[in-house]
Amino acid sequence: MKITFRGAAQTVTGSQTLFEHNGYCGLVDCGLFQGDKSQRLVNWRPAEDLKKIECVLLTHAHIDHSGLLPRLVSQGWRKPIYCTPSTKDLLKIMLLDSAHLQEEDARFANLTKHSKHSPALPLYTTKDAEEALKLIYTIEWNQWTALSKFVSFRFLRAGHILGSAILQVRFDLEHSSKLLTWSGDLGSGHSDILRDPVHALETDFLVLESTYGDRRVDIAGREKRLGEIISKVIGRGGTLVIPVFAVGRTQDLLVSLYRLTQRKEIPSTPIYLDSPMATSVTRVYLNHINELKESALSADLEAALSAGSFFEAITSSEESHRLAEASGAKIVLSASGMLQGGRVLHHLKNKLPDRNNGVLFVGYQGAGTKGRLLQSGIPVIRLHHQQIKVEAEIFNIDGYSAHADSDALINWVASFSKKPQTIFLNHGEPLAQNALAYRLFQELGIRGLIPQQNEVFDLAGN
Ligand SMILES: [Zn+2]
Repeated sequence: MKITFRGAAQTVTGSQTLFEHNGYCGLVDCGLFQGDKSQRLVNWRPAEDLKKIECVLLTHAHIDHSGLLPRLVSQGWRKPIYCTPSTKDLLKIMLLDSAHLQEEDARFANLTKHSKHSPALPLYTTKDAEEALKLIYTIEWNQWTALSKFVSFRFLRAGHILGSAILQVRFDLEHSSKLLTWSGDLGSGHSDILRDPVHALETDFLVLESTYGDRRVDIAGREKRLGEIISKVIGRGGTLVIPVFAVGRTQDLLVSLYRLTQRKEIPSTPIYLDSPMATSVTRVYLNHINELKESALSADLEAALSAGSFFEAITSSEESHRLAEASGAKIVLSASGMLQGGRVLHHLKNKLPDRNNGVLFVGYQGAGTKGRLLQSGIPVIRLHHQQIKVEAEIFNIDGYSAHADSDALINWVASFSKKPQTIFLNHGEPLAQNALAYRLFQELGIRGLIPQQNEVFDLAGN
């Protein structure tokens, strides 16, 4: 078995690993590179080995894991994509939205002549995304599925977002078989709505995400802190803008906002979800309510996730613009979560120059993103080609992270009944990866390797 790290190598986007065993070759994840321009340019590289890739095994629907699938299709690739049933439902929304954004970017570049290329072309189109969706096959939890005579796989719950999976690949050698496990993005184990990641697995090799490899996340105080920030900003008549990702964070926040409202721990104020995608995704969560946490009361969950119950979903862009221009006390959840685009930019353009307002970050802000700049205290930020003064108060809560923190990652690895002999750390920035590698060795005696982009590892046998 040979694996090649094609993305998410010393960075948190563009997840993609190529695996090859006894003539069978596939990809684990096929994610879009986000972040600064040099990263985004990688999305345009021609896919290598396109002809020999027999499948894509998809851990979850987030675009940094799935967003290059239509790009494969645009280059003529037509092979099966395997994922869990709820991941498929999320992908219908995510891939079409991603294609739409690519088309919009190209249209905008042509309009403003921002591109070196004439005409600027989208990375892929809606048609490519629709074709990619036709290639999806769903696999139930825990069901071993053969890919070739020598390779099979199964999905196990990862508790990161709806449908997210840990992936195990079993490959046969001459007289034995080995297990290679991808953590995918691993949940924190503290979600109010998702079931916990599966523990106590066996494996020979592990590819482990390391987003929060150097951090401890304070989960206990997150709802209280959210309530305090809301009370502070709403109390002074300001707008609190919360940049969110459509999948995961939005739903967790809605549940917290619902509970704070029910318990009257925050002042009564309008709450808006201004992201059509987040609204659609929230509906998918409702459609898969049986997938969600068994201990959560389904009546409460339903109320918390249903638009119109205690929050209003904004659909048209006219409404969104009106909302962005309106002053006064309110809470606005809007995408994208790292300010890489989307309606949240209109809200920020209007709200950042007023010190009464607040911006609350609830998720990881990748290096090179506008979110990271704002989070680190930049006094002036460029949005939609305008310089915007930052007077609004900037808040952070990392307790809503959908990722396992350093302790949770160590505990998860420690729980393996057969521990990996080698761990490859991906999906993390170097500081986090080095810190995690150090802990893995000190506490568990396991070597953690930090692959570079395109680095190849020969695991066993061939
Ligand atoms: Zn993810």
